[in-house]
Amino acid sequence: TDVKELLLSRIRDVPDYPKAGVMFKDITPLLADPTAFTALTGALADLCVEHGATKIVGLEARGFILAAPVAVRAGVGFIPVRKAGKLPGATLAQSYELEYGNAEIEVHAEDLAAGDRVLVIDDVLATGGTAEASLQLIRRAGAEVAGLAVLMELGFLGGRARLEPALLGAPLEAL
Ligand code: IMP
Repeated sequence: TDVKELLLSRIRDVPDYPKAGVMFKDITPLLADPTAFTALTGALADLCVEHGATKIVGLEARGFILAAPVAVRAGVGFIPVRKAGKLPGATLAQSYELEYGNAEIEVHAEDLAAGDRVLVIDDVLATGGTAEASLQLIRRAGAEVAGLAVLMELGFLGGRARLEPALLGAPLEAL
């Protein structure tokens, strides 16, 4: 579609970042283009309505940039899922494996509860580890996963297949 072409045209490929052999997808040109950024947040807000989400979770850090305006547009609350040690209140934590070592993410426990339907938003789905951990956090908090929406899915990394069990039938939307 036209929107998809517009979004793709505003994503920059940066070779060998953050390390040799990696082709990094840089979304800063998209954020700097108000037409593209508005089209993106509009498409994500449409998904929020379509899937009946009552809350939006954004994944640190680029996920915050996308999820916050989507929450405002859709008229639902925004909840940050942060890297460990950044949230001041009582948290639920979920660790997951990286290529080398482990990472941990957290959410304020009081931000999610039974009856919430949560749409998770991030910029890029790579191996799916971060997204998988976020889905586990949401369910441990007692909430329901309405779906996972990303700007871009790096299909060759197999994230969609890895996430399949954790999605429990919830949709994975890659714009
Ligand atoms: P995963 O856990 O391997 O799926 O990695 C996804 C996380 O890493 C997301 O939070 C992304 O923001 C980030 N990420 C991985 N690759 C890229 C990229 O090429 N561009 C921007 N972010 C990326």
